[in-house]
Amino acid sequence: MASCSGSPPAGVTDELVAAGNPAVRLCLHAQGRQRSVPLFDLGLADTAYPYLLLLSQAETERVLGEHLAAAGVDVERGVELVGLDAGAGGGAVATLRHADGRQELVAARFVVGCDGAHSTVRHLTGIGFEGGAYPQTFVLADLEADGVDGAAAHVFLAEQGMLLLFPLGRPASWRMIVMRPPTDHTPPDAPVTLDEVQTLADTYAGRAIRLRDPVWMTNFRLHHRAATRYRAGPVFLAGDAAHIHSPVGAQGMNTGIQDAVNLGWKLAQALRGKAGPALLDSYEQERAPVGRMVLRFTDRAFAVAVSTNPVVRFARTRIVPALLPVLLASKLVRATAFRTVAELNIGYRHRPLSAQGAGAPRRGPRAGDRLPDAPLPTSEAASTLHQLIARPGWHLLLCGPADAWPATVTARLDRYRLTVHRLTGAVPALRRLGVTGVAALYLVRPDGHVSYRSGDSDLTGLLAYLDRWVGA
Ligand SMILES: Cc1cc2nc3c(=O)[nH]c(=O)nc-3n(C[C@H](O)[C@H](O)[C@H](O)COP(=O)(O)OP(=O)(O)OC[C@H]3O[C@@H](n4cnc5c(N)ncnc54)[C@H](O)[C@@H]3O)c2cc1C
Repeated sequence: MASCSGSPPAGVTDELVAAGNPAVRLCLHAQGRQRSVPLFDLGLADTAYPYLLLLSQAETERVLGEHLAAAGVDVERGVELVGLDAGAGGGAVATLRHADGRQELVAARFVVGCDGAHSTVRHLTGIGFEGGAYPQTFVLADLEADGVDGAAAHVFLAEQGMLLLFPLGRPASWRMIVMRPPTDHTPPDAPVTLDEVQTLADTYAGRAIRLRDPVWMTNFRLHHRAATRYRAGPVFLAGDAAHIHSPVGAQGMNTGIQDAVNLGWKLAQALRGKAGPALLDSYEQERAPVGRMVLRFTDRAFAVAVSTNPVVRFARTRIVPALLPVLLASKLVRATAFRTVAELNIGYRHRPLSAQGAGAPRRGPRAGDRLPDAPLPTSEAASTLHQLIARPGWHLLLCGPADAWPATVTARLDRYRLTVHRLTGAVPALRRLGVTGVAALYLVRPDGHVSYRSGDSDLTGLLAYLDRWVGA
């Protein structure tokens, strides 16, 4: 499952949205009562996707895989990394084992370990993975369920824990995640039967739900761990290799994809010879705090969901079901919850790559923030700010009166690899950027975050920034 947040690679978005299910409410069931609360029907103006999109991870991977193949990138399956020497010559040599047993040595300038929680890359580079395992065992099942409203996601809260049902659609109508009660000591590697899952569902939902036709069922345990470093010389970690946590909040895959997007453009720039060591260092400086924050957030939410403490149990079954509908009736609370879950608030203020020049607008996104979306006048080539900057690379937004940016000034930008846009009459977009009547500029990184902004048409600060981070 994935929640839709920033800007996925160009061309993928429409297909992901078409494959997913955005039209869900949340049904809370507790103490024999049911309450329906709206999910993220907010119409937020700074994103084209102001809703939670329910889409299985397998589908997400299929769409991304097909997009890669269409772009000529071949993902080799059945090839295992078994050795890694990152010691000599500035790069690394990986030993790969193919399905037929053949071994291959591959020399690379950089290696990125996106190899999951048990990351071989992390082990071979000696990077620690600190944290622990939660004691609870869960069952995950993709199956059919009769007796539940298919237009909603369902949460059953009980003293023993909780049961979640998501209308995923594929590979089966429902994904069920259910906690085994604390008295159940089934080992995680035991096989799971439909009868057993039905008994578990009855524990939380009475006999309201009839389960059938499972596509697959498994036990699983959850961990909360973070890598002690995200980089060792030419080797980087991203995704679950760097951080794992409970799926409360549905943020694991999204956080991993954001790691990859953050690192991807920096590696591309380094491979073109346009990046000093500081640019690659900024990956860990920016992403490790995000990994830690997601871990803290999910750890707290998970504690409320599973704790056997009598006070927390009371809160889970009585206070949360009564309070949540009241809280979520407020648009502000819903917007804050949405921004947190969708990871729209993640930013890199006060990191080395984020800088502000003289006279930066008092409002609008700060350096490090995600560039908000906004509509553009129909006369523009793109209809929104995000469409304008969709092309991979650095973008410069020159804002304010047309005569603030004469060609004699902007000619000084010609030697840099960036796309320059003039936003003169784009009033809603300028307002969102905090620009009113005067000249201002926003430099946007390839991952859609503001990297530099300043408040008049003097390019001195910008040129120094470009010389340092972008290169001529
Ligand atoms: C029950 C559950 C529900 C979840 N729900 C959500 C959700 O709703 N939303 C969300 O965003 N996230 C969710 N997650 C988290 C999400 O599944 C993970 O965060 C995500 O899969 C991590 O992706 P990854 O590519 O980093 O690692 P993985 O998905 O683990 O992929 C690692 C890959 O590396 C390969 N590999 C491993 N070792 C080697 C080696 N030595 N050589 C070559 N290849 C290797 C593996 O075969 C695998 O293909 C959930 C997780 C769980 C457990």
